[in-house]
Amino acid sequence: KLKSDTKQFAVIGLGRFGSNMAMSLYKMGYDVLAIDKNMKKVQDFSNAFTHVVQADSTDENALRELGILNFDVVVVAIGEDIEANIMTTLQLKEIGVKYIVSMARSPLQIKVLEKIGADRVVAPERDMAQRVAYNLASTNVMDYIELSDEFSIAELVIPRAFINKTLVESNIRAKYNINVVAIKRGEHLIVSPLPSEVMHENDVVVVVGDNENINGLEKLK
Ligand code: ADP
Repeated sequence: KLKSDTKQFAVIGLGRFGSNMAMSLYKMGYDVLAIDKNMKKVQDFSNAFTHVVQADSTDENALRELGILNFDVVVVAIGEDIEANIMTTLQLKEIGVKYIVSMARSPLQIKVLEKIGADRVVAPERDMAQRVAYNLASTNVMDYIELSDEFSIAELVIPRAFINKTLVESNIRAKYNINVVAIKRGEHLIVSPLPSEVMHENDVVVVVGDNENINGLEKLK
C-alpha cells in the first residue's frame, strides 16, 4: 500500500541507471513504482521496490492505467532505445505529469528532451566522466560538480600557501571570489567554517565559485 504522505516516484526502465535510481530512492524511504517492458527485468526486481510492473511506457493507456499522474516525479531511465525514451517523455508530458526527469546519452538527445518539456535532463555518463576526468587531471581536485556553465562546486586539497592560515588570512573570497562552504579534515567535516578557522595540512576545502576562479585556485601550489 502506498503511503500518501511521502513523495511518490516512478522509474521507467530498469537498466543500470534506472535500477540504481530506484534503489537509492527506495532506500531513502520513498515509495517507488518501477516499470519495465521486459518481463525478465520485472521478475529480477519483483521484490526490490514498492511495486514493480511490466508495461510499455510508450503506450499512453498503459501509463494512465498505472495512475502515472499520481506520481510526484517520473524518471525516464531508458538509455539504449532513444526512440522509446523520447516517446515516453512526450507521453508523460501530454498526460500532464508534474515533474519528468529523462536520461540522455548525447548532446542532441539532451536538446530534444529539453525541447519536448522534460523538467530535468540528466546525462549520467557525461557528468560522471567529467567528474572523474577533473579528478585524474589535477592532483588537487578531489571532486567537481558543475552547477552551470559558469559555476561549480569543487573539492580541493588546500594549496601549501594556505596551511596554518585562517580563511580570512588566505584571502580566498576577496582575491578569488570563491566561497569555502566546508572543510574536510580526515573524517571530520566542518560545514560553513568561520572566517577564523585555521586550515591544516591535508585539509580538503569544498568551494563554490566561478569556474575560472576555481581553476586559478587549483593551480596554486
Ligand atoms: P542503462 O544504460 O541504464 O542500462 P538500458 O537502455 O540498457 O539503460 O536499459 C533500459 C531499460 O528500459 C531496459 O530494461 C528496457 O527493457 C527498458 N525499456 C526500454 N524500452 C522500454 C519501454 N518502451 N517501456 C518500458 N521499459 C522499457
